[in-house]
Amino acid sequence: MPKLLLAAAQTRPVRASVSALPISRKMVRRFIAGPDAGSALDVTRTLREQGLAVTLDVLGEDVTDRAQAAATAAAYRSLLAALSEAGLADRAEVSVKLSALGQALGADGHRIALENALSVAVAAKEAGTTMTLDMEDHTTVDSTLGILAELRAGYPWIGAVLQAALYRTEGDCRDLATAGSRVRLVKGAYAEPASVAHPRKADVDAAYRRCMDILLRGEGHPMIATHDMSLVADACATAKQLDRARDSWELQMLYGIRTDEQRSLAAAGVDVRVYLPFGTDWYGYYIRRLAERPANVLFLLRNLNS
Ligand SMILES: Cc1cc2nc3c(=O)[nH]c(=O)nc-3n(C[C@H](O)[C@H](O)[C@H](O)COP(=O)(O)OP(=O)(O)OC[C@H]3O[C@@H](n4cnc5c(N)ncnc54)[C@H](O)[C@@H]3O)c2cc1C
Repeated sequence: MPKLLLAAAQTRPVRASVSALPISRKMVRRFIAGPDAGSALDVTRTLREQGLAVTLDVLGEDVTDRAQAAATAAAYRSLLAALSEAGLADRAEVSVKLSALGQALGADGHRIALENALSVAVAAKEAGTTMTLDMEDHTTVDSTLGILAELRAGYPWIGAVLQAALYRTEGDCRDLATAGSRVRLVKGAYAEPASVAHPRKADVDAAYRRCMDILLRGEGHPMIATHDMSLVADACATAKQLDRARDSWELQMLYGIRTDEQRSLAAAGVDVRVYLPFGTDWYGYYIRRLAERPANVLFLLRNLNS
């Protein structure tokens, strides 16, 4: 189902009817803070009052022209300045997709994305917060980890994302489980071929468990990003067994999913960070959320014409 939906989402009629939905529609707003930085700051403030940290995503991906990539980097810089000015930067960082910063711009893509990401890292440092590089489909992993290594030379607090679905990821976890290294572990949201990724969900879940163990037993700062409550329970138990300090690891969940559990885990003394996207270019992000859960698609279909 997820693969089929992700494929259907690339077709013109589906994209046209779904992306014509106004962002104000409840089913879009469930996952997205709103169209602009103002709405994202408002939601960040509310989440902070609930004891939650935030990572903000300026929506957009697969940018195909240089000016647009530069504009995305500028949007992140002004968001970081606004977070600092609003006194929110101590509990809110940013998440960046390198394809939105130019990574897909042909032979120069790697360099353009690196330069744009560097400008965001400088702004994050000035604001007194951090940034994390989201991970996209498997064809981008080498370039993204390469850019991460270059950026970390000057900004070692930049976070990485690793996807348990990919066969390579256990090795990447071992490489990145080093002192100070912030690593978000996810299952993986992209439709990948069996040549590079576990096709069966049960195998992805098992791989996630192994990767989580490597990261929690390592020296870095694991960011366990999942709504799978059995994995969440295991993460909490392992962190306790290893005597990990509260601020040496965190749980992460997406805005709009398992909202009650986010609050109760934070109230129970675990650091919980919510991934909060905003902006008008929400189609790709929204479709991945639908693909993760068939019930979401049925809800969308029932409500499209209401
Ligand atoms: C903070 C964060 C950042 C992420 N960053 C990336 C990234 O950079 N790259 C990347 O490839 N992926 C990223 N993801 C997405 C991730 O790869 C998974 O696709 C997503 O988290 C669903 O997997 P799961 O671990 O929640 O487990 P699943 O087994 O998919 O879900 C477990 C349970 O959670 C609930 N649930 C999960 N998804 C939904 C949903 N969309 N709607 C409603 N309920 C749901 C359901 O009850 C489900 O049974 C991120 C996820 C999080 C939480």
